[in-house]
Amino acid sequence: MTSSGNPGGTRLYDVTLESKKHGLITKADCILFDREKGEAYPVQHKYSFRPKILYHTYISQLMMEAIIIEEQFNLSVPHGFIVFERSKETVTVDLGDKQKVLYVVGQIRGIIGGEKFPPPTEWKKRCVDCCYNKLCWG
Ligand code: SF4
Repeated sequence: MTSSGNPGGTRLYDVTLESKKHGLITKADCILFDREKGEAYPVQHKYSFRPKILYHTYISQLMMEAIIIEEQFNLSVPHGFIVFERSKETVTVDLGDKQKVLYVVGQIRGIIGGEKFPPPTEWKKRCVDCCYNKLCWG
């Protein structure tokens, strides 16, 4: 983890985040801190162009980081940022509804704990290059 100061607050890079409460661990590319507001904002760097639609996985990752930052640093995390390096665009992502990602975490735990495969998606296009194809579709 490295840090730097700037007029708007502090930045930490490559931050290991761990939630004892939710049993989650991840690594944030960067976190911006605004101590005056009591807020922090995770920042993801993608070495790609901005896609037409933001992938759910990008948003879920930021949500997860936000949940852990709130627990670990005792700050609120209302939004985060995704920086698309190749198109030089920064997108602000609202992180107000964190319950959705916790629901998904609960479902994943159920799958692991129950040791049974979830049903395959209805949208077969998603399965074209998936390594679980043979398991899901026999
Ligand atoms: S093959 Fe892959 S993408 Fe398709 S349902 Fe299974 S896990 Fe999901």
